[in-house]
Amino acid sequence: MIAYRLMRAQEHPQFQEVARPSPGPGQLLIKVGGCGLCHTDLGLMKRTTAEWLDMPPPLTLGHEIAGWVAQIGSGVVGFKSGEPVAVVPVWGSCGHCPACRRGEENFCYYISRLIGAGVGFDGGLAEYVLVEARFVVPMGDFDPVLAAPLTDAGLTTYTAIKPALPSLVPGSTAVVIGVGGLGLLAVQFLRTLCGARVIAVDNDQAHLALAKEHGADNALCSDASTAEQIRDITAGAGANFILDCVGAESTLKTAVAALARLGRLTLVGAALKTVPFGLHEVPWGAQLTTSLNGGTLNLREIIDLARLGRIETIVDRYPLCHVADAYRDLADGKLLGRAVCIPHWTERA
Ligand code: NAD
Ligand code: ZN
Ligand code: ZN
Repeated sequence: MIAYRLMRAQEHPQFQEVARPSPGPGQLLIKVGGCGLCHTDLGLMKRTTAEWLDMPPPLTLGHEIAGWVAQIGSGVVGFKSGEPVAVVPVWGSCGHCPACRRGEENFCYYISRLIGAGVGFDGGLAEYVLVEARFVVPMGDFDPVLAAPLTDAGLTTYTAIKPALPSLVPGSTAVVIGVGGLGLLAVQFLRTLCGARVIAVDNDQAHLALAKEHGADNALCSDASTAEQIRDITAGAGANFILDCVGAESTLKTAVAALARLGRLTLVGAALKTVPFGLHEVPWGAQLTTSLNGGTLNLREIIDLARLGRIETIVDRYPLCHVADAYRDLADGKLLGRAVCIPHWTERA
């Protein structure tokens, strides 16, 4: 089968013909229906050999995977051949700690580093992918192309938003900074799950317009005055919840300056910058948290939300053979929604 592979650290990935894997005990072979591209992949392509630790390339990229069950390994029960499924991207969890037992495998007590589809293991930019059955979620008749971005862009933001929901009563305010692949789904989760005003912040006008179309009450340009504008909109109180999907120094600074007392700032963006934390550095009572991807429990929940039509994945479709164009468009900020690569598809829709 054809796979899009990073052959060596810091090289351009390339197509390679590889053997179609077959599932061992406890595994499923998934026929890929769609694989979303994430900003994180661009970072992976820049990783040095040392940063890959003991699981270096070659490997097939792609960690936002949905498709159909193609082959069932021994001992796996409850899946049918041909059934549509979505795959949780973070693997390597123990399966037995309290977090794993709750379906929050991303917070497993024993995960020591980030591994999963397309990071350490072969990912979904291929015709088929091999997965442990416990990381696979059935999804009725839902379209894998629409489901793929939910497994990371959706799962990460939903998992970050869920703990903040009890505070997001009518009259409160939630802000999403960076409304690209992740943030456009975050805006929709907030809009559908709580009564808060939703403010989108970005430096791209097309993304701000899309955020408004998908439920943001306000759309603000990201600059040095953003925090002040949020304070104006909230009559000085600030935002009760802020999700930073960028993580730059400027966005973290804006977030802390715009946060209400007792507010919650959650960082998921991976620009890897920091912000000072101290008694006089953050609003009193504020919680500053990070979040990483999500587990099977939350993936089931967001697929159910999507199947009800409460959230819409905005997809830029690419045939798998054009994956390099899709990554270039992602890097250049030319995508509107999430790029999803579709194997076996040669015509651009
Ligand atoms: P994306 O490129 O699709 O979207 C990023 C958005 O941020 C774009 O709309 C862009 O215009 C906007 N932006 C950039 N700089 C900005 C600024 N200074 N102020 C406001 N907006 C700005 O990227 P994505 O795939 O949505 O990923 C977003 C981030 O989340 C990346 O850093 C990615 O690595 C990270 N990520 C984290 C997790 C996690 O589990 N924590 C999971 C997936 C992705
Ligand atoms: Zn990702
Ligand atoms: Zn565990």
